Amino acid sequence: MPAARHVTIAGAGIGGLTLALCLARAGFTSTVLERSPALEEVGAGIQLSPNASRILIALGLAEALAPAVVAPAGMDVRSASSGALLAAATLGETAAQRWGSPWWVIHRADLLAALAAAAAREPAITIETGSAVATVMAVADGFDLTLEGGERRHIAVLVGADGIRSAVRRGLGDPAAPIFRHRSAFRATLPMAAVPAVLRGDRLGLWLGPDAHLVHYPLRGGSLFNVVAIIGDPAPVAGWRAPGEASVLAQRLSGWDAAPRQLIAAVDEWQRWSLADRPVWFGPGQGAATLIGDAAHAMLPFVAQGGAMAVEDAAVLAACCAAGPHDLAGAFRAYEGARRGRVARIQSLAGRNGAIYHLRGPAAFARDTAIRLLGGRGLLAQQDWIYAHRA
Ligand SMILES: Cc1cc2nc3c(=O)[nH]c(=O)nc-3n(C[C@H](O)[C@H](O)[C@H](O)COP(=O)(O)OP(=O)(O)OC[C@H]3O[C@@H](n4cnc5c(N)ncnc54)[C@H](O)[C@@H]3O)c2cc1C
Repeated sequence: MPAARHVTIAGAGIGGLTLALCLARAGFTSTVLERSPALEEVGAGIQLSPNASRILIALGLAEALAPAVVAPAGMDVRSASSGALLAAATLGETAAQRWGSPWWVIHRADLLAALAAAAAREPAITIETGSAVATVMAVADGFDLTLEGGERRHIAVLVGADGIRSAVRRGLGDPAAPIFRHRSAFRATLPMAAVPAVLRGDRLGLWLGPDAHLVHYPLRGGSLFNVVAIIGDPAPVAGWRAPGEASVLAQRLSGWDAAPRQLIAAVDEWQRWSLADRPVWFGPGQGAATLIGDAAHAMLPFVAQGGAMAVEDAAVLAACCAAGPHDLAGAFRAYEGARRGRVARIQSLAGRNGAIYHLRGPAAFARDTAIRLLGGRGLLAQQDWIYAHRA
């Protein structure tokens, strides 16, 4: 295979592995360089909305994912202080019909395992674990990479899928750090049997409180429960991710309804993530290099779309390569042009949602009234442009 049909991808996360699979289907080979010694993910869940599930299904992953996913029957939005139900939306089969593909939740480890297993079966894909890109330099006929440890590689075509602290993004010309957005996510999973009875079941829950909100949903056929609590936070934790102190969370949610307080009290172990984003940037706009996923447009998780955007990016980038296999630099520019508007719009919606979710006082009362008026159907209709999208 000539060099131009071979793509080097930095990062074997959701974006990098999906891209390798999409490229293989389009007739390209790839080498995926992954920093971690093994392909594994943190013990937390992820929502996979129809715009993403459609792409994974088209890749032939439906069967592999079936035992791992849950399609929640619905979503309940509640006031955290009173416990009052503000809106209830139907998901399940209704969502699959409305948006043409299922609305899933899945444990990240299960998603990554399914992607990794599909990649392992694909002769066009080589995954090198324990290979962290340290530096990238554009040269006349491609890119010189240095891996941590000192190994050097010369490659023709490069995609950075190496997450929010992307070394490829730095090497392509953006040395800026992610921007901390004064919020932290406390994430945990617990057995369904340990969940307070009133919250058990197959629905997704969203609780809105002053300067905090909570999301929960079932995982792994309903045997496991995923909890994410987001609180306002003045400073990032060292290393951006650390064990979370249950006492901090309990204190911050002390004025909340009994059910969510019982839920957080049932958790044994929290992970605390400092939340950040980065301006949308795909690279310098020249040569056969680009960025996908969080490397290009890390966003706050308040529309649950960061992973979905990485999956969409992968599908669009591979389609552009297939349409212009003899000019991959041109194909990459076409991909960047196709994606810029959508990811910027979703990124700014995520920022706005974060502010709205955490309102307090009269502003929170006005928000709750607006949600009641919209109702579950109205809330879902607002998401049509995100979920119905066919990348
Ligand atoms: C609290 C929270 C909840 C979220 N919930 C959702 C949700 O419900 N739905 C959703 O769609 N998204 C969600 N997201 C966002 C989602 O997790 C990310 O957008 C998604 O993981 C991005 O995928 P990625 O492949 O671009 O990057 P990553 O998942 O960060 O993967 C990057 C990969 O690159 C590797 N890597 C890093 N540096 C190097 C290097 N120098 N060389 C080689 N490899 C490297 C890493 O080890 C990793 O494997 C959430 C995020 C947070 C913080």
